[in-house]
Amino acid sequence: MNVSTLITVISCFLSGMIGASFASFINVAASSKGSIWKNISRRSSVCEKCGKSLHHWELIPVFGWLFLQGKCSVCKERISTFHPVSELLLGGAFVILYLNYLDQPLSLVLFSCVTLGLYFIAVYDVFRRKIPNVFIFPLIIVAAIIRFTNWSMIPEYFGGALLYFSFFFLINVLTVTGLFPGVKKGSKGFGWGDSKFAIFLGLLLGFRGSTISLSLAIFAGGVIGAILMLSGSKRGTKIPFAPFLSLGSFIALVWYEEIWDVLMSYFLI
Ligand SMILES: [Zn+2]
Repeated sequence: MNVSTLITVISCFLSGMIGASFASFINVAASSKGSIWKNISRRSSVCEKCGKSLHHWELIPVFGWLFLQGKCSVCKERISTFHPVSELLLGGAFVILYLNYLDQPLSLVLFSCVTLGLYFIAVYDVFRRKIPNVFIFPLIIVAAIIRFTNWSMIPEYFGGALLYFSFFFLINVLTVTGLFPGVKKGSKGFGWGDSKFAIFLGLLLGFRGSTISLSLAIFAGGVIGAILMLSGSKRGTKIPFAPFLSLGSFIALVWYEEIWDVLMSYFLI
């Protein structure tokens, strides 16, 4: 292995560990009990069942869980696989960002921050089944200010926000009125949290990116929904949709030009 390959491998590992550490931190902040700020200040470094303080090595993302074999070393309470899996996912996302934006430090930092925001909203929805207003409204305002300062790009980004929002608006109206196939009148549908998240994603990704992100989210959500149904999950169990939106948006954020080119060459020829 030559020196430059070795440096790339070490840098990828470090990027992955940074992403995984953020996942570990965000999982605690967004977890279902207490306010975000309280959760951050008390940083869960004890076993929730027996109160045993965790050693530093037990707090290392992914590896800590592996060393402990997924159980508390004292009371043997199981530690959910959600933790290592989510840490691997965000770690992997950081490696992808590092490899794609290695020569553009500003984009690397900016896209890493956006990815952290997408991850936070996804995990918050998993734990609490809602999108935090205190977080999503400032994001919408900042994205609108950045996007609408360039007049020539307004149709692209306004179009993205409109497309994304319209999808959720339509689904909500159809489910609430009972017109959606298989849904009882008065159902809550996706809820308005996803609609707010949709406006942010549309502003972030523009029309083309939104088309890709939304299609991927619907596809991934459909696949997971089908798997849950086949595995005997209760009918009507509500699956949080923000994780799929975040996943689709991350892919669209990094590869939307490549995906769009493939789609265009496929449909236009
Ligand atoms: Zn314990």
